[in-house]
Amino acid sequence: MAAPWRDVVRDAAAVREAAAVAVDAALLAGVLMRTGEQPNASDVVNYAPFTLLPSAVPRALFEQAYAVQQDFNLLVDAISQNKEFLEQTLASTIKVDDFTARLFRIYMQVLEEGLAQTVFLGINRSDYMFDCGLDGTAALRQIEINTIAASFGGLTSRTADVHRLVLKVLGKTEEASNLLPNNPAKGLALGLAKAWELYGSQRAVVMFLVEDTQRNIFDQRCIENELWNRNIRVIRRRFRDVFEQGSLDGSRRLYMDGQEVAVVYYREGYVPQTYNQQNWEARLLLERSRAVKCPDIATQLAGTKKVQQELSRPGTLEKLLPGRPEAIARIRATFAGLYSLDEGEEGDRIAATAIADPDRFVLKPQREGGGNNLYGEELRQVLEKIKDSPERTSYILMDKIKPQPALNYLLRAHSPLQVSECISELGIFGVYVRQGQELVLNQAAGHLLRTKAIEHADGGVAAGVAVLDTPYLV
Ligand code: ADP
Ligand code: MG
Repeated sequence: MAAPWRDVVRDAAAVREAAAVAVDAALLAGVLMRTGEQPNASDVVNYAPFTLLPSAVPRALFEQAYAVQQDFNLLVDAISQNKEFLEQTLASTIKVDDFTARLFRIYMQVLEEGLAQTVFLGINRSDYMFDCGLDGTAALRQIEINTIAASFGGLTSRTADVHRLVLKVLGKTEEASNLLPNNPAKGLALGLAKAWELYGSQRAVVMFLVEDTQRNIFDQRCIENELWNRNIRVIRRRFRDVFEQGSLDGSRRLYMDGQEVAVVYYREGYVPQTYNQQNWEARLLLERSRAVKCPDIATQLAGTKKVQQELSRPGTLEKLLPGRPEAIARIRATFAGLYSLDEGEEGDRIAATAIADPDRFVLKPQREGGGNNLYGEELRQVLEKIKDSPERTSYILMDKIKPQPALNYLLRAHSPLQVSECISELGIFGVYVRQGQELVLNQAAGHLLRTKAIEHADGGVAAGVAVLDTPYLV
């Protein structure tokens, strides 16, 4: 891949000056995070970590990622309505993975009762890396699709302005003018507002379901403020608040301390550690309600790694999206090799291959949020240990994507300024709204580029590994 900043990246004086400007610009623009020491107070805050320089992204791959987003929205929505597919696909996983099993139980329970919800809102983010082939050409490869609590749409709406200024400081005025505008905060708020409107009660609120520890609150505030701009009331509550204060009326309208809730936007609820017995009860209450859940539990299950792996099986996409061969071709073109570790010959064979050559693969459990995958020697050891036990079924295997690294500086509070070899991951936000069977909104809503030093195999921005970036199309 082209390295557009070759002339300045090693110029220590220029870099130092630009970094000082960059940090202040980030603070002014609101690219912010609370501190690890005081995650629930805004008295002292930091800038969210970001790259000094925008990273080169091949224009064709960037456009390919945007062009397939509406297809992925359709696909996720279709999976979420396909009980037979979810049941079959997750059957082996829920035998060994407690967390997925509990989500699945709630899913079945609300289906048995009959859905009160009639409006559906999906906000997802499809993540990609650029796989570098032997001939040096790069290909777009999907890492995963996040169907719950996909974050950084807010902060990344403000990073392009920072990078534009940095490029100007470095004498790259023309390149600065090439940076694309990007506003996922607005796009996601549009979806939330549409769902709120279709729910049809002026007095009802949008509830952000948030974590106990809220370091990334500014990212959420960007979206909240877009809703307030549209005169839609927003409240922030935790699962514990829902357990203590939440209730349903006779037609399963959801109330939180007296206020009717039109939309529940989960920014929490995707890791097992969130849930004690009370929080599981709160989750069930929310799922049973008429409120628009973003996502509903079926859509959360559609985002599991096991579902991702099954999608890559020949014929699966054709069953899920009948009559849409072009969409299927666009989707399939982004898939990396994905392999089932279910019990049987197929699983035995791929497990043996991965043990023999672990650097070709990534071993993934059914978890979200970064830092859960296994690589290299660790992958080999774990797979060796579980290869003859049903526990193997709780993982999937994926081809490891190998992007071409580029030099950049990762700006992080209290860290020295030093050049790093970096790789990037591009995310495209998708938003869609369905009323009954009618899709009333289906859009790509902006992008997120995250960059990390190559010594880290795993982990996102919240995990402290990757930083925010802006694509520079080449
Ligand atoms: P999570 O749900 O924890 O975010 P991901 O599948 O996104 O799980 O993996 C986390 C990180 O691990 C990614 O952001 C990426 O940096 C790295 N990663 C995941 N899959 C691959 C892969 N196939 N090849 C290379 N790196 C990967
Ligand atoms: Mg991820």
